Amino acid sequence: MKILVTNDDGVFAQGLWTLVKTLKKVAQVIVVAPDREQSAIGTAVSLRQPVRVQQVNPLVPGVETYSVDGTPGDSVILALANLINDIDLVTSGINHGPNLGDDVLISGTVGAALQGYLHGFHAMAISVDAWENPYFDAAAELAALLAKRIGANPPPTNIFLNVNLPNLPPAQIKGLEITRLANISHTNTVKEENGGKEGYYRLIRQKIDKTAKKKTDVWAIEQDIISITPLHINLVNKPSPHLLNNLCADLLQELRRNQIL
Ligand code: MN
Repeated sequence: MKILVTNDDGVFAQGLWTLVKTLKKVAQVIVVAPDREQSAIGTAVSLRQPVRVQQVNPLVPGVETYSVDGTPGDSVILALANLINDIDLVTSGINHGPNLGDDVLISGTVGAALQGYLHGFHAMAISVDAWENPYFDAAAELAALLAKRIGANPPPTNIFLNVNLPNLPPAQIKGLEITRLANISHTNTVKEENGGKEGYYRLIRQKIDKTAKKKTDVWAIEQDIISITPLHINLVNKPSPHLLNNLCADLLQELRRNQIL
């Protein structure tokens, strides 16, 4: 089995190498990751400038490792197109900090897994709910177990997994649940300088005071439970019959009446 490991915390982040060390016991591992921290960059790709790839010394001996001066998404696209053949799984993480609820849409960790998924590969993002003093070992072991399962019995490629762990010593973790995304974002605007509407502001992430619904990812982490959320990219909602009925006919009629069409 061959696993591509990437992240959004940078190629030398502790979480990535804890993951690599453990995955290496069950598979061949290749690392292709951004050369610097790229958190909250989502699935951005660099289309306006060339992206430099350099082979670098791994922190775990014997692991082919490339540093990319681009985004997590760039790293995955380049890895799959030019650097590695026969990948079985794309794994992104272990992220320093959670990736939960609506924030998956801005997460670089999830963005990298998403690129793997969009290219037809099995993919997962894995994060721990801590920016400081993280417990990474249980996350790495869980990723290895999931990788083994995916290798032995490949699931459909129409989903990818977003895994989050509470930041606890393994013995204190209370369980594991398949969850859905909470409709909660942890990104708020905080005004830093008082200059009317103009001036400097800082966008920050913080725990917010909103109750998460049961069986959501935010709820699971609050209950000290590991959250596994199956994601897919179908953003299109089913048209609501009440709201959208006749919308197209009405719009077309109005455009013609106003001689725009
Ligand atoms: Mn990050």
